[in-house]
Amino acid sequence: MNDTALQELYDLHTHTRASDGMNDPAGNIRLAKEKGLAGIAITDHDTVAGIEEALEAGRQYGITVVPGVEISTVAGGRDIHVLGYFIDVADHKLLGRLQKLRETREARNDLILEKLQALGMPLTLQEIKDGLGRPLRPDESIGRPHIADALVRKGYADNMRDAFDRYLGEGKPAYASVPRISPEEAMQWIREAGGAPVLAHPGLYGDDELVRRIIASGKPVGIEVYHSDHGANEEQRYLEIAAQFDLVPTAGSDYHGVRQGVVFHGDIGSRSLSLCVLEELRVRSGLK
Ligand SMILES: [Zn+2]
Ligand SMILES: [Zn+2]
Repeated sequence: MNDTALQELYDLHTHTRASDGMNDPAGNIRLAKEKGLAGIAITDHDTVAGIEEALEAGRQYGITVVPGVEISTVAGGRDIHVLGYFIDVADHKLLGRLQKLRETREARNDLILEKLQALGMPLTLQEIKDGLGRPLRPDESIGRPHIADALVRKGYADNMRDAFDRYLGEGKPAYASVPRISPEEAMQWIREAGGAPVLAHPGLYGDDELVRRIIASGKPVGIEVYHSDHGANEEQRYLEIAAQFDLVPTAGSDYHGVRQGVVFHGDIGSRSLSLCVLEELRVRSGLK
């Protein structure tokens, strides 16, 4: 993005320890500062637990923090992620809804552990939690990356990628899915909490017809055109879809930190957008 080189840049997709990232929220802000970004969004899975700390660190470092969330949904048999920006993180209705989703995630973890047991790889929730090296906060949740981490520690897998490729990935023997909300529902939740819903990483679903259907029915205000796992081809395709549906084309690295020497998805700031795109998103937030 050469034409934006002299502008302030924002990475709108980063994870922290509040879900399955490796850094505490302030850590992401420090990294953003190091990379010369003007701001980042904190978009943890089904929780806004990291936002307050991030906002505080943002004030300290002079980095803009966009409050966000990434909600897990399902459509057409696929896991679909919906990002929400500029949400009111104190909105009680939203907090209650996210709490329910995290409970669903726990039920899914239990199913995965049962499957691993049946495959001859016994693993307990406690062993996974021990790997965190600190207590789990009540508004944080265990996800598949934590389970993968434990599988590596116990010698059941060579590394994270191997754990997903052989056991935990979609369609693999220890994969489990549980009833989830629809993307349309998540988009409505975000609007009701004053935010702007954005369809996350459409290139990961392998089904552009499904992507179009979700956009037509859920009416997000944006689509994540630029993502660490999108190539030039995806960027072009989703730019066209953004233009067709009048969506804000957003960008994010999906930074999760470094786990066993591997950066999952992308490094912080590896995808970014300009202030005018961010402002467009802000203007369209909260529109019912
Ligand atoms: Zn995602
Ligand atoms: Zn993400």
